[in-house]
This record gives sequence, C-alpha cells and structure tokens, in this order.
Amino acid sequence: MTIAYLLIDIDGVLIPFPRQRGNGPATHVRHLVIPTGYDAAKPVPIWLNPAHGPMLTNLFQEVPVTPVWCTSWHGDASTLIGPKLGLPPLPHVELGRPAITTSHPNGYLWKRDPVTRWLRSSRLDRRRLHSHRPRLGRSPYPVRHPNAPHPARPHDRSGTVPP
Ligand SMILES: [Mg+2]
Repeated sequence: MTIAYLLIDIDGVLIPFPRQRGNGPATHVRHLVIPTGYDAAKPVPIWLNPAHGPMLTNLFQEVPVTPVWCTSWHGDASTLIGPKLGLPPLPHVELGRPAITTSHPNGYLWKRDPVTRWLRSSRLDRRRLHSHRPRLGRSPYPVRHPNAPHPARPHDRSGTVPP
C-alpha cells in the first residue's frame, strides 16, 4: 500500500524535444531505440541525461512515494528508457492510444482521463493518506532526518546533500 504516487512522464521531461538541428542538449547522450511496433530498420533517436537516473533513484529512496511511468512510451518505459538510466522496471499507467489530433482535447491534457481511471482503480489507501497528513513528522517510512548525515557521505554530519 502506498500513500502517494509519483507519475513520471518521459517526452519533454526526461527526453527533451529535439532542437532545430535535430540534436539534443550537451548534457544528454544520444541513443537509438526501437519502440514496440516500430520497424527495426528505423531506430528512433532519443537523448537522455545520465545524471537523471541516479537523481531519480535517490529521490525514490528519500521520498515515500511509489514511482509509476505515465507516458506514451507505455511498457517500453521500463524496457527501453529506464535501463539506460539505471532504473529498475516500474509499473506504468495504462494510457491507451486515443485517436486524438491534439494533446489537449476539450482543453485538458489527453492523459487526464486515463490517469483518473487508473487512480480510481489503484491501491492508494485514501484513509491512510488523510490520517497521515497531520502526522508527517511520524512517517512510517524511512525518511532521512534533514540533519542526519547523507548516506553517500556518512562522515559528513552537516546534513547537506552532495552535488
Ligand atoms: Mg510529455
């Protein structure tokens, strides 16, 4: 049971949209992938920042949330994208493949309705979420105290997070 989900998008978030010349930012590494259903002879170029994997891994360890892919990459997020960032397989929201011509049909992001359906069927324990709010300081999850030494620098007692 979880008290919160962290829904993670990929396009425009982890994978930046290509620049005019078709390349990515200098911080990102180019990869070629073949999404499910695509022609193996026509791999798709993507750009990923290798620092994002450790950043997300650290976030998953420090914040009591359940990470979930929420992306049009569907299951490929766990098989094609996550491994390139060193991330374990994660569940994903089943967004379907709606026949739409705009990303904001009826004025809302196209993911809104499938995310709403997914949340209604999720295992989110709303009673625990509401009862948990007033007592955030007594979290049942292993949240690191702000002044505790950072795990990567146990000798450093300043509590600062290394860069
Ligand atoms: Mg996006």
